Amino acid sequence: MNESQLLRYSRHLLLNEFEYDFQEKLNQATALVIGCGGLANACLPILAGAGVGHLVLCDDDLIELSNLPRQLGFSEADIGQAKVFSLEKYLTARNTTIQITAFKQQADADFLVKQIQHCDVIIDCTDNAKTRQLINQTAVHSKTPLVSASVIQFSGQVMVFDPRLDHSPCYACIYPNVISEDTSCTQNGVFSPLVHLIGAAQAAETIKVLTGLGDSSVGKVTQFEGLNFETYPLQLTKNPACPVCGNQR
Ligand SMILES: [Zn+2]
Repeated sequence: MNESQLLRYSRHLLLNEFEYDFQEKLNQATALVIGCGGLANACLPILAGAGVGHLVLCDDDLIELSNLPRQLGFSEADIGQAKVFSLEKYLTARNTTIQITAFKQQADADFLVKQIQHCDVIIDCTDNAKTRQLINQTAVHSKTPLVSASVIQFSGQVMVFDPRLDHSPCYACIYPNVISEDTSCTQNGVFSPLVHLIGAAQAAETIKVLTGLGDSSVGKVTQFEGLNFETYPLQLTKNPACPVCGNQR
């Protein structure tokens, strides 16, 4: 790292638990991020700031007025623009030393399989049940860690899966079926601060996965209730009959 990088990342490097090579691991890492809505707007400025070297963004949506209360990377002038390109611009302004690649499209199976070859972690920031299952299948088959999060109304959760580890469950072990779209924020509403709490937790778990910092959260779900500020950690177990990662697939 050069002098400027040492200064930029000094507040992490000052932490006893944060080793010098952790920063180099972050600088060399590539993260595939699916979805550029609320979670991504909370998670990615932290990861860009922390120096994750290459962020690959994918989203097909345009910015709407109702996004602005949560999606702080966007301004009124951005309404009607593609989320993925506005977020790319916002993140680049935060850290010009990292690389950002933006794809304005839906994350279908072909896209995921192609992109995952170059990525060290997948960050699931979608609110689409079908895409979540596709992301999980890609993570399992490519043995790529997956940091998944969701927020609805006053409830949020973060889950970490690592298919490189035999004991790690996958998303389909917990949610084996594609559930209907009626759980999205569009129909049910969402508490804005909770999106940022969960997105920040997703960033923390991504940094931990990429560096090995702290205790592993693999196979753990942390449920957070925004009305009473309670958290409920739960250890998940691998389902031997899972259609994606199970023995009988
Ligand atoms: Zn599974």
